[in-house]
Amino acid sequence: MSLLVVGTVAFDAIETPFGKTDKIVGGAASYIALASSYFTDEINLVSVVGDDFPQDFMNTLKGQGVNLDGLQIKQGEKSFFWSGKYHNDMNSRDTLETQLNVLADFDPIVPESYKTCDFLMLGNLMPNVQQKVLSQLTKRPKLIVLDTMNFWMDIALPELLETIKGIDVLTINDSEARQLSGEYSLVKAAQKILTMGPKVLVIKKGEHGALLFNKEEVFFAPALPLEDVFDPTGAGDSFAGGFIGYLAKTKDISFENMKRAIIFGSAMASFTVEKFGTERLIGLSQDDVSNRVQEFVDLVQFDISLV
Ligand code: AMP
Repeated sequence: MSLLVVGTVAFDAIETPFGKTDKIVGGAASYIALASSYFTDEINLVSVVGDDFPQDFMNTLKGQGVNLDGLQIKQGEKSFFWSGKYHNDMNSRDTLETQLNVLADFDPIVPESYKTCDFLMLGNLMPNVQQKVLSQLTKRPKLIVLDTMNFWMDIALPELLETIKGIDVLTINDSEARQLSGEYSLVKAAQKILTMGPKVLVIKKGEHGALLFNKEEVFFAPALPLEDVFDPTGAGDSFAGGFIGYLAKTKDISFENMKRAIIFGSAMASFTVEKFGTERLIGLSQDDVSNRVQEFVDLVQFDISLV
C-alpha cells in the first residue's frame, strides 16, 4: 500500500559521550523513509533541501525504493540544520542549534500521483506544513500518523493542536506528552491527549521502550537492551517508519496489529542507534530485520501458569 512520508531531510551535528560528528545527513523524513523501506515498496517523500545537500544520499534513498518526486531542491539556499548534545545516559539531549533555512518558507507541493496515498506519515515538521500536506490530499488516507516535538509545542502550539484534531495516531516522547497535556502521570497524559483528536497515542520512552494507548487499553514494547548505543538520533523517526511501514505492509490498522507494529518500530530504532546517523538503516536484509524482531519476542516471552 502506498505510503506518503513528510518531514525534514537535513544536516545534523551530533555530540554524544562516544564522539562528535560534523555535519552528517539526517532529518526526520530520512529516517522514516529508510526504516519503512523494509516493509513497503511504494514510498513517496515530500520534503525540501537546499543545493548544499549531497546527491549521494538522494541516490541512497532512491536505492531503498523511495520516490523523490516530491523533494524540492532550492537553488542558492541551505538545508535545514539541527545540532544536539546527548547527556551521559543517552536518553536525554539538549538541542544546541536549529537553523530552519529552507524550511522557514517551505510550501509543500504534493505531486498528483501522491494525493491518494493509503498511509500518511506526517514526520516532525512545522505543524502548518503538516496541515498544508493534509489539505492537498484528494482522498482521506486509511491511516494518518503524526510525529512532533517540544520545539513545535513551544513555538506553534495553536497550529499543532489544530493539526492533531484530524489524525489517527500521535507519536511523541514522555516529556512531550507531559508538556502537551500538563499532566505528570503518563496514563493521565494519554487520557487527556486522546481527547484532542488522535484515537491512538504512542509515548516513546527511549531506552525504556514505548507505550501504546487507545481509550480502553494500554500496551508496552520494550527497547532492546544493547551493549553500545552510539547515537540515539533518529530513533523516534525510525520507530515511526517501522510502525507505519508494518501497518502498510499488513493493511491492518486494528489496535491488535498496532501492538505488533510497535515491536517492528522498536526493532528499526534499535538498528539506528548502533551507528551515527542513518548508516545502520542502509542495506539491511530481511533476515536482519526478522532476527532482530525475534530478539524482541525472546526478550518478553514467558510462561506463567496461574492455576
Ligand atoms: P529523533 O531523534 O527521532 O527525535 O529525530 C532526530 C531528527 O529530527 C534529526 O535528524 C533532526 O534533523 C530532526 N529534527 C530536529 N529538530 C527538528 C525540528 N524542530 N523539526 C523537524 N525535524 C527536526
